[in-house]
Amino acid sequence: MNTTLAEKMAAKETLEVISPITGEVVEKVGLQSTADVDKAVDKAKEAFNSWSKRTLRDRSQILYTYRNLLKASMPSLAEIIRVENGKTYNEAKAEVEKAIEVTEFACSLPQLNLDTCSEVSRGIYCRMSKKPLGVVASITPLNFPCMVPHWTIPIAIALGNCMILKPSEQVPLTGLKIEQLFLQAGVPEGVFQVVNGKADIAQAITQHPDIKAVSFVGSTKVAKLVYEASCKTGKRALCLGGAKNHLLVLPDANPKMAGADIAASMSGCAGQRCMAASVLVAVGDVQSIIKSVVDEAKKLIPGQNLGAITTCSSKERIEGYISQAIEQGATLLLDGRGVVVEGKENGFYVGPTILDNVTPDMAISNQEVFGPVLSIMHVDTVDEAIALQNKSNYGNGASVFTQSGSIATKVAEELKAGMIGVNIGVPVPREPFSFGGWDDSRFGVGDITGESSIDFWTQRKKITTKWNAEDKKDWMS
Ligand code: NAD
Repeated sequence: MNTTLAEKMAAKETLEVISPITGEVVEKVGLQSTADVDKAVDKAKEAFNSWSKRTLRDRSQILYTYRNLLKASMPSLAEIIRVENGKTYNEAKAEVEKAIEVTEFACSLPQLNLDTCSEVSRGIYCRMSKKPLGVVASITPLNFPCMVPHWTIPIAIALGNCMILKPSEQVPLTGLKIEQLFLQAGVPEGVFQVVNGKADIAQAITQHPDIKAVSFVGSTKVAKLVYEASCKTGKRALCLGGAKNHLLVLPDANPKMAGADIAASMSGCAGQRCMAASVLVAVGDVQSIIKSVVDEAKKLIPGQNLGAITTCSSKERIEGYISQAIEQGATLLLDGRGVVVEGKENGFYVGPTILDNVTPDMAISNQEVFGPVLSIMHVDTVDEAIALQNKSNYGNGASVFTQSGSIATKVAEELKAGMIGVNIGVPVPREPFSFGGWDDSRFGVGDITGESSIDFWTQRKKITTKWNAEDKKDWMS
C-alpha cells in the first residue's frame, strides 16, 4: 500500500461500502473532506509543471503500460465492481473491456496528428497546437465504477492534464484500485488522484478556482447543478445526465432478434444503464414480439444472470414506480417486485418487470426508472411513435426494430437522441465514435469520448512565424 492509499484508508471519518448482493458492509473507506480537494489540487498543480511538458508520445507510452495492467487486472477489478455495484461478474468484465477500449483510443492520440501547420502567406507559417488545460476533474455515478471514469481519465491525462476523480460514494473501491494501477504503470504522483466523498466534494470541485474543467456523469438534476456551478466559476463543463430510452417496434421486426435484444437492453446491469430500454413503443400489432420479449425476460433470474440494484433506496424507488403504474391502470405482464434470492435474503434485487398499456399520464412513461423495468406504449403509426419519442425531455438513446431499410432510415433521422440503434437494443457507439446524448441528457458542448473529447480537454495555441525579411510584409493578404 503506498502512502496515498494508506492515508485515505486511515481518514478519521469513513464511508461504509455496502454490497447490494448481501446488504452487508464489506469495507470501510476514508471519507475525504473538502480540505483534501485543496490538497489534491495543489499536488496536481505541481505535477502539471512536468507532466504537461512531456511529449504526447511519451505520455501515451505510459498509458500503454497502464492498458496492459488494466487487462491483466481484469479478474480482480471485475470482482471489486461486482461486490460494490451488484452487477454480474460478466457485466463487470464488460465494463473493464470498455475502459480498455477508451484507454486504447488515448494511447493512439499521437497517431492522429493533432497539431497543424500551414503557410498562410508567402514565408509566413501558422502552427496550431492543442495544449492541456491544467488541473481538471471528473465526477462519476454509481452504475459504471470503472467504465465511466475511463471515459475521461486516459484521454485527459494523455493530453497533458492532471485529473482528480470524485467517484460515487456508493462505489468508492474501484476508483482506489484504478488509482493504484495508474501509479504502478508509471504515471507520476499527482497526475491522477481519487478523492472519495459525497456531494460536498463535488461542490468543492465546482468552486475551486484552480480547476479548469469539470466532466460530470450522473442524474439530470445533479448534472444541471454541476454544470451551472462550474460555469459560474468560469470552468468549461460537460455534464451528462439521465435518460428515458424509447425502442420503436414495428410488426415486420424479427421477433427472435428483437425479443432477445430488447430483454437484454432493459435488464443488463439490472436496468441501471443510461442506455437501457425503458419504453417499448409498439407500432400496430406486435403481440408476437411482445411475447418474445416476455419469454426472454422470464429467463432472467435475480442473483444468477440478473444482478442486484446498487442501493436499497433505488430498489424501493423502482418498486414504487411499478406499483404506482399498476394502480393507474397499467397491465402487469411480468412482476419483479418482492424478489428474495436464496442465501442473499438481504440483497437488493428486483426481477425483470414488464408493464403493458402504459399511457402518457403515468409517471413511469416519462421519468427515469433506472431498474429492470420495461413499459409498453401502443400507437398506430410510425409517425405517432416518432412523435411520442420526440416529446421526451431526454435524448440519450433510441432504437427502431424493423426489417425495412427505408423506414429505419426515416426513423433514425427523425428520432431526437444522440445515439440511435437500428435493430440494436443498446446503441452505444464503439470508439472512436463518441458517446453523448442530447437535451436533458447532456449539458455543455460535444461528446464525452472520441474526437470531440480532444477539444474538451485542450485549448488551442496558434503561433504565426516569419523568418525572412523579404517575405510578405502584409501577412494578412
Ligand atoms: P447522481 O446524480 O445521484 O450522482 C452522481 C455523482 O454526483 C456522484 O458522484 C454523487 O456523489 C454526486 N452528487 C450527488 N448529489 C450532488 C450534488 N447535489 N452536488 C454535486 N454532486 C452531487 O447519479 P447516480 O445515482 O450515481 O447515477 C445514476 C444516474 O446517472 C442515472 O440518472 C443515469 O442515467 C445517469 N448516468 C448517465 C450516463 C450518461 O452517459 N448520460 C451514464 C451513466 C449514468
